[in-house]
Amino acid sequence: MKKKLFKQLPKVDEILKIPEIIELSKNIDYFNFTEGIREGIDYYRQEIAKESITELHIKDVVENIKIILKKRSLMNLRNVINATGTLVHTNLGRSLISEKAAKNVFDVITSYNNLEYNLQEGNRGSRYDHIEKLVCTVTGAEGAILTNNNAAAVMLALNEFAKDGEAVVSRGELVEIGGSFRVPDIMKISGTKLIEVGTTNRTHPKDYREAITENTSVLLKIHTSNYKIVGFTKEVTNSELAEIGRENNVLTMEDLGSGVLVNFGKYGIKKEPTVQESIASGIDLITFSGDKLLGGPQAGIIVGKKKYIDRLKKNQLLRALRVSKMTLAALESTLRYYLDEREAIEEIPTLKMILEDSVKVKERAAKLFEILQKNDVKCSIVETEATIGGGSMPGETVKSCGVGIEGSPLELEREFRLGTPHIIGIIRNNLFILDVKAVKNDELYLVAKKAAEIIKKQIIKI
Ligand SMILES: *Cc1c(COP(=O)(O)O)cnc(C)c1O
Repeated sequence: MKKKLFKQLPKVDEILKIPEIIELSKNIDYFNFTEGIREGIDYYRQEIAKESITELHIKDVVENIKIILKKRSLMNLRNVINATGTLVHTNLGRSLISEKAAKNVFDVITSYNNLEYNLQEGNRGSRYDHIEKLVCTVTGAEGAILTNNNAAAVMLALNEFAKDGEAVVSRGELVEIGGSFRVPDIMKISGTKLIEVGTTNRTHPKDYREAITENTSVLLKIHTSNYKIVGFTKEVTNSELAEIGRENNVLTMEDLGSGVLVNFGKYGIKKEPTVQESIASGIDLITFSGDKLLGGPQAGIIVGKKKYIDRLKKNQLLRALRVSKMTLAALESTLRYYLDEREAIEEIPTLKMILEDSVKVKERAAKLFEILQKNDVKCSIVETEATIGGGSMPGETVKSCGVGIEGSPLELEREFRLGTPHIIGIIRNNLFILDVKAVKNDELYLVAKKAAEIIKKQIIKI
């Protein structure tokens, strides 16, 4: 019996001739294609050996191979649909790059380019030259330099200006971001001694003044991106800190975290301190991320006085922390939008989503609800609170809307997350919710289709 079944097993060569398999080969590398076919046949070989099947249908083997090939054709790093209501979601890749910016990256990296070549002079150039002037124009800074991310930017600046020296920081600002960026640890790596001043809730100018000694290298302010101290509080403003620095001839630095270039207050959203304001306050060096509220690629941006930026450009660490051509291409495209604020809020996905009218979000939820109802999915429209995320506006939410789906929330969460496409939702008050704030119009149909599939499966299960 077994022998007969083994004999019936198709050979790899035979499978390779089947049109629908040939079709699948277009989306997959040759190694995974042939290994996938082998894996599919092997599965049935083992089933026969275990005697768990008594007859073999080639159709089943082919179906199994098709499933395996589809799985193998997916990249490990792949798209998901963000139905969490958190816009700049660090676990889901933070900011989206606009299609135009992505196209620019594509064009630059699929061809040779002038990354480190001066086209005017015909000799070696600097990768930073492509972008420094633009950063200065949109922020008002004298000079700018880029690193791989903001953590690297802080590390580089501390290493250059406070190695073997002391950095004075307010106790209320010793932040930890996402578990991997802790101010005290970054200080240690940079060779800087941390001097804490003030208390958790209150720090005064005199606290900084009294902490300054001949070993003081920098007065550092850190934006408390992901928490808020409320109640009886006092912090030293940027201008006050800049003045203390000038009086004592000590460098002042601010880690702004999220690089906000737009005054959100104008649009009825809580105002975050902007990069332009920090520069205008007289702080010497300011660091921020490229992929938080700026809405660009992962990058660290350091802006400030030219004489300090020039020193950073010569620091050997910069070579280890440098940005790639992909980053530069995406960042240049993104920053160009900021030359005209109207264009920035229209073209940069993160800004566009934050500022999108709540009526439009509601309409999207209603549309999803309507499609789901047509497909017999029991659900309801729910009002939600979306968070901006990405180390910005802690505690602040914007009005959003979603669809709550009836059923076991844990089971639904898992089914949506593991499906194709992967849809990441949230559970609130024991209800599984798909928040549509960060769901694009053209993703609605995919979400609805998946929901119908999952629910139908559940009905069959019951
Ligand atoms: C997010 C953040 C960082 C880390 O920035 P990355 O670009 O993720 O390295 C550092 N400091 C503050 C205050 C932040 O908010």
